[in-house]
Amino acid sequence: MKNIRIFITFSLIIIIMQLVGCQKDDSRIPQTNDGNTDYYLRNYAYDELYKDGVFDEDMSTPAYKRTKVYPTKNTVYSFFASWKRSYINENRTISTYPLCRDPLCSHTKLPCISYAALTSDSVIEANGKLYLLISGDDEKKNKFIEYDTSSGKYTVIGEFVNGGQLIARLGRFVYFYVIRIDGHTDSGMQLSTLLLHRYDIAEKSLEKIGERNSKESFLQAAGHAGYIYYIDVYYNLCRCDVNFQNVVELVSNKNVITYEVIYDKIFYLTKESGNDYGILYSLDIDNKISEELYDEVTWFCIYNNKLYYSKYSPVEAFDWDFPQTGEDGKRVIKNKMIIIMNGNTIYSIDLDKAGKKVGNPLPMCEKLTEEGCYLGETFAVYDGYVFTHLKESYSDGAKKGMLTGVTAISIADGQINRLESEYVIFS
Ligand SMILES: [Zn+2]
Repeated sequence: MKNIRIFITFSLIIIIMQLVGCQKDDSRIPQTNDGNTDYYLRNYAYDELYKDGVFDEDMSTPAYKRTKVYPTKNTVYSFFASWKRSYINENRTISTYPLCRDPLCSHTKLPCISYAALTSDSVIEANGKLYLLISGDDEKKNKFIEYDTSSGKYTVIGEFVNGGQLIARLGRFVYFYVIRIDGHTDSGMQLSTLLLHRYDIAEKSLEKIGERNSKESFLQAAGHAGYIYYIDVYYNLCRCDVNFQNVVELVSNKNVITYEVIYDKIFYLTKESGNDYGILYSLDIDNKISEELYDEVTWFCIYNNKLYYSKYSPVEAFDWDFPQTGEDGKRVIKNKMIIIMNGNTIYSIDLDKAGKKVGNPLPMCEKLTEEGCYLGETFAVYDGYVFTHLKESYSDGAKKGMLTGVTAISIADGQINRLESEYVIFS
């Protein structure tokens, strides 16, 4: 079954960017603009965060989030052009379905969850419920919703004037921000504030916990062992408490692009702007000592006490016809070689040996290259599979395109499972 969709992914990204940044007036919703920045929030003990053992750690580390794959106890959610849910079966096969559970649904109108979530590329899960920020036209509005995966129904928890972003989950709390438009400068630049919100799943209560300058955004946030970790807008690695206060910069002035927290250690990758690679470090949080593990690293993730990383080793994959701006400023389609910076190879090593020895290349990578399939820039490992946006050459007559999408590759035998894919051809 061939499903040709052109530009969809690219246009979706643009739509998401516009929705986050766009101003949407709705006089029916009161807008708080009290300028109040002091929030007296009570502290929560560690046991309260993970209340009665009901709330576990959020599994979505930055490697998963960047790959747009969200593993939970028995389901892997993924987003490419739309949301999918996948199950790894006992016989090591993968079954994939749309997020919406109604087999008769066309997924083109509310209250279908696949349709509602089409403009949201992140999701937070807790105990079989999904939390999403959806935004869109007048009917959809900007809403924070809870989707019950067993009943297939969602509940609106909060409704907002503007859109925003999910941040992370820490135990029983889901964090997100929505944007408040404060006006414009004389030069027409939009002034806005991030309104931090926290939803308490245990108490079913939503509260605003603070305001931040819109320039102080949070990248790759993840809740872990009582703290929220994130990369700030200056690419420092920070962590804060349950109230998003008492911020500590754990790594400063090093351009951190991704990280993983394992017990009392943080593994992080730095990358100078313009570079395709950087240095992978480990940091002992308590004694603040950073150790360099590997250089020229393009990406990494950790799963089950194993480190998986890729090294800078550019290879020419295949050429495709890609739109570029010609000398006269007009859009022209030009043939261009796709360079894979990671050498189409992932190395793995036990975490306790990381930095002491070079990792072993995963044998499945050689098979991928033989089949003309190439790993995406980012990847994440879960339950014996590498998840990545696999790229493969595709042609339609004389036109050269690419087959890409979210793919799970079996580490054991290199079997390729396309959870969602698109043929991208420009003309
Ligand atoms: Zn549907």
